Amino acid sequence: MKIAIIGGGIGGLATALAMTQAGYAVTVLERSNQLVDLGAGITLAPNATRVLYHLGLGPGLEETSVTPPKTEYRHYRTGAVIMRMMTKNFREIYGAPYMRLHRWDLQHAMITRLAQIAPGALRLGAHVERLEPRGDHVALAFADGRTETADLVVAADGIRSAIRESLFSPAPPEFTGFVAWRGLVDTADLPPHLRESAVAFGQGRHINRYLVRRGELLNFVAVAQRDQWEAEGWTIAAPLDEFLAEFSSFDEGTRTVISRPVRGQVFKWGLFGRPWLERWSSGRVVLLGDAAHPMLPFLGQGAANAIEDAMILTRCLTAETSPERAFDLYQRTRGARVRGATEQAARRGDRYLGEPNEDSLKGDEPGVQYAYDAVAGPLVG
Ligand SMILES: Cc1cc2nc3c(=O)[nH]c(=O)nc-3n(C[C@H](O)[C@H](O)[C@H](O)COP(=O)(O)OP(=O)(O)OC[C@H]3O[C@@H](n4cnc5c(N)ncnc54)[C@H](O)[C@@H]3O)c2cc1C
Repeated sequence: MKIAIIGGGIGGLATALAMTQAGYAVTVLERSNQLVDLGAGITLAPNATRVLYHLGLGPGLEETSVTPPKTEYRHYRTGAVIMRMMTKNFREIYGAPYMRLHRWDLQHAMITRLAQIAPGALRLGAHVERLEPRGDHVALAFADGRTETADLVVAADGIRSAIRESLFSPAPPEFTGFVAWRGLVDTADLPPHLRESAVAFGQGRHINRYLVRRGELLNFVAVAQRDQWEAEGWTIAAPLDEFLAEFSSFDEGTRTVISRPVRGQVFKWGLFGRPWLERWSSGRVVLLGDAAHPMLPFLGQGAANAIEDAMILTRCLTAETSPERAFDLYQRTRGARVRGATEQAARRGDRYLGEPNEDSLKGDEPGVQYAYDAVAGPLVG
């Protein structure tokens, strides 16, 4: 069976690794000519790392990741602790660790592993423009005019998925009312007490900061609200003074961190969403990751759910007698789980809005997501 995976992001690469490990022949079609370092961090909770260890990535990720002893949720103005999550024991509690990584270190580990187990499977500069389902196969048309066929297609082409819009739902991504800024700080430029993980929140703004790359860098993501957003993309440079003015009411420690990004560089982008989609497959085409179910980043579970999708979809293909039946099982196994995470991420955004107090986050702890076992858990909804 010839499987084409559209998109070489975290979801597409995880799918390629899981399917190759299960014995399938896959090709990853990525439109970029080069996969580049976007200069950002990522949190991988145990539900994601469980899968990544199963795919042989654990030792590589351990070399660069950071497991903070704790994450504190704090009052934006006073810095007072509102909730504390002890992350250092997660390996014992959930059987898999909690990791903070430079996004590029994750992507690089995935690409390297794929090149070892499926040399040549990743094709760069392969922009899929159109799919034509044709019964027992799918025709793929590329932007450069070439065509080819596959027995089944996994569309992991991200939140702006053209495949979703052409085959599933034409509704475009919608601006969610949140804008985000990100930056990396060299920890050598920070006093020791600020080299730590913390989320400061309140009055509609929040800043999540955490160590990555063996603790050499500290990543921050800051979020505020806006009525409108026009620009597209992840790499729009933001003036540092404008950014600092937006967060001038935050506590001194947080302000010190965000005032020292490497090369004074901060980037901003708008957060978009899509209406919930009930059905992620049509014939021999199936959606995965953000293409199927984008979610707000406030729970740190978007990539984690793409990684879970990859593992479950692979297991469904192995367990079932046809791709259509496998996609059905995938939908039944994943639908409620992902919808729950999507809704919890949105609720968490709402909880960051008011004046923080000890009830602000009660009953909505992120830990409820972590026990999910995509590697060995049951396949059914
Ligand atoms: C501020 C922020 C912070 C986040 N933090 C976290 C976090 O800490 N933890 C977490 O788990 N998640 C986090 N996420 C979410 C996470 O980044 C996404 O959910 C995840 O990257 C989705 O992976 P994906 O593979 O589905 O899509 P993407 O990573 O978007 O990959 C899609 C790929 O498809 C390619 N592509 C698109 N169209 C085509 C085409 N037509 N032909 C060929 N290739 C194509 C693109 O070039 C891209 O490489 C965060 C998101 C944001 C916005």
